[in-house]
Amino acid sequence: MSIFCIGRNYVAHAQELGNEVPTSPVIFMKPSASLLAEGKNFDIPSFTNDLHYEGELVLRVSKQGKNLKHVNVLDYCDAITVGIDFTARDLQAKLKEKGLPWEKAKAFDDAAIIGSWVPLTSQIIENPIHFVLRKNGAIVQDGDSALMIFSLATILESITEYFTIYPGDLIYTGTPVGVGPTSKGDILEGYFEVNQVFSVKVNP
Ligand code: ZN
Repeated sequence: MSIFCIGRNYVAHAQELGNEVPTSPVIFMKPSASLLAEGKNFDIPSFTNDLHYEGELVLRVSKQGKNLKHVNVLDYCDAITVGIDFTARDLQAKLKEKGLPWEKAKAFDDAAIIGSWVPLTSQIIENPIHFVLRKNGAIVQDGDSALMIFSLATILESITEYFTIYPGDLIYTGTPVGVGPTSKGDILEGYFEVNQVFSVKVNP
C-alpha cells in the first residue's frame, strides 16, 4: 500500500510556513509503516522538539490507474476521511535548508493517522467539504476543500502522471492553515463535517 501526500495545497498554509504557493502539486510519500495502528496512542519521537499536527482530507483509492486525464474522482476512489500528517517541523526545516528529502521529518513510524472511512458520493465530491481538527477540545484547524489550490481530481491526475495507484492506496490532500505543535498528553480529534472520525491520544 502506498501513501501519497500533497504539500502546500492551501494558500494560507503555504504562507504561514513562508513557502511559495506551488504551480503544480507537491507530492511526497510515506511508507505503510507510518500508519498508526487503530486504537494505539501516538508517541512523540525523540528526534524532534517541534512535532506538528497537520489535519487533512484523505482519499482511499479503489481502482488501479495511471496517466489519468479529466478524471472523475468517484471512478478511482471510494471513501474519504480526515487524517493527520505528523511532521517533525524542526527536522523538516533543517532538511529543507539543505535541499534534502523530507522523509525523516514526515515518513517515520506512526506519522500518519487515519480516521474511519466515509463512503464517497457525488454529493460529497460536488460540494465544499468541511473538516476540523481539535486539540484538547479546541478547534485548531477549520478546513474547507473549496480553498484547495489543486482539486481532488487534479491531485489524482498529477500523482498518476508519475505513479500507478492501486486499490487501498491513501492520498493525503494537504493541510489548511493552523498547523501547530503537539505536546505529550494532548488529545487530537478529527471531524469530517460534524462527525468525529478519529481521536488520538499523545502519550504523556
Ligand atoms: Zn501535510
